[in-house]
Amino acid sequence: MEHPTVPRHEALDAAQRVPTPADLDTLSRQLGRPARDVVEIGARCVCGNPLVATTAPRLASGIPFPTTFYLTHPVITSAVSRLEAAGAMAEMTERLGRDEDLASAYTAAHHDYLAARQAIGARTGVGPVPEIDGVSAGGMPTRVKCLHVLVGHSLAAGPGVNPLGDEAIAGIAEWWTAEKCRCGGAWDTEAPVPDRDRSRHVRTQAEDPAAKKARRAAARQAGAQQDAAGEPGTAPAGGRP
Ligand SMILES: [Zn+2]
Repeated sequence: MEHPTVPRHEALDAAQRVPTPADLDTLSRQLGRPARDVVEIGARCVCGNPLVATTAPRLASGIPFPTTFYLTHPVITSAVSRLEAAGAMAEMTERLGRDEDLASAYTAAHHDYLAARQAIGARTGVGPVPEIDGVSAGGMPTRVKCLHVLVGHSLAAGPGVNPLGDEAIAGIAEWWTAEKCRCGGAWDTEAPVPDRDRSRHVRTQAEDPAAKKARRAAARQAGAQQDAAGEPGTAPAGGRP
């Protein structure tokens, strides 16, 4: 079985992954809320707009965050939700139970996800996050719990890494394909950017070091108990926007 220590492939090169201020504004508009703890862009539309936000494996609050690749493009997130509503996850999970080749490829995808997250933690200065060692997202390696997570991984890794993410992308071809820009009208480009949440920053600045340390430890403990694919505070478990 393959246990890569570096991701096998990444869709974008280092320069393309750097989030510009305009990218961060676009992400916030796509999500309808401030984009936080985004360290890279995981995948882009042919026009350059972000499709996937890459989130730090540990949030600024100290909470470990296993869902590294977060699908943000409204056209893709809606299309993937339609697949989920049509029962794709149960069907895929059932197939994983009887198709050894698929199960093996999906386990390799799980290890690639972990390797990618570790590489991102290293190159962005976040460092190791032992609380989520061995924990990927989306139900990997044995189940399918969130197709948005798998599609986010497939888009960030490129084709051939996550078999079920690739399958889901093929399944939404009616609404979105990698070759064609579907950004027009997908979100309001004129609306004010959802406000950045500055309260945490302000509070951290004013806090005394001992209190800060205690709060971070509590946050870590809380985070370790969370569902592997959930996003703290803003979205239901499942890692979707
Ligand atoms: Zn586009």
